[in-house]
Amino acid sequence: MSSLTHSQPGVQAPAPQPETPSNEGVDSREQLVNGGEIGPIGRVSIPEIMITRLKGIMLDFDLDLYKKEKLPAGATESSVKLYETFVGPMLQRHPLYAKAEVRDTGRGLHAILWFDQPVEFKTPAEREKWGAVVKAVQKTLPTDPACAGITATTRPVGSTNSKTQRQVRIIKPGSMVTADEVLNFVTELRHKPFKIVAGFLLDPVAPYCPVCATPDARLGVMDKFGHCYGGKHKPKVGDLFDAVFAAPNKKGG
Ligand SMILES: [Zn+2]
Repeated sequence: MSSLTHSQPGVQAPAPQPETPSNEGVDSREQLVNGGEIGPIGRVSIPEIMITRLKGIMLDFDLDLYKKEKLPAGATESSVKLYETFVGPMLQRHPLYAKAEVRDTGRGLHAILWFDQPVEFKTPAEREKWGAVVKAVQKTLPTDPACAGITATTRPVGSTNSKTQRQVRIIKPGSMVTADEVLNFVTELRHKPFKIVAGFLLDPVAPYCPVCATPDARLGVMDKFGHCYGGKHKPKVGDLFDAVFAAPNKKGG
């Protein structure tokens, strides 16, 4: 008699883990390109010109990037709290970003969109195009502006972050994304940058102007800008980010 597998309808299968699920190394890194190598940063981090395939896109969220008072209470106290109160709900607001795997890096968060199959670059032009796509996907959310784009590396699960002596672990499993899904998103972003970024950063039910920051400054959300009914001005995408990012520090990240 054959045994039945009980698959739960509507529940997404978690993405397969990266090749090496555990790594004891201290401060080792994991490539999101080429062979997905894990090892010392000097070996794993490679220049853009050597990249022939892209396995994933990384979003870097650090605790010290934000104005504390603009985030939910306690959000910047730990990477887990940052995920639970701010980054997690934000990722869930879009079906593409909701598929990200999220790692606690021992200090901050890395959210990774893993491709179902690596994007192969046959020409330098394709690599350049995807370099721009990666930047666009990263900068739609308030991620570390200093984070590398296509050359970014993550920290492997199970490795130790020497800055905190904590282990890197997955706090939310992801599911795979397709190259087309990402490209379609970037096309949509080009047409409605303000609407999309506002969708992540503002209260979806009652958006108010991030510049005036008073509840009576209701905000009309247009595709490319906002319309503030309080201050009678038109906030841009940059105003949405300025509202949550702390002033950049002098060492430039
Ligand atoms: Zn305003």
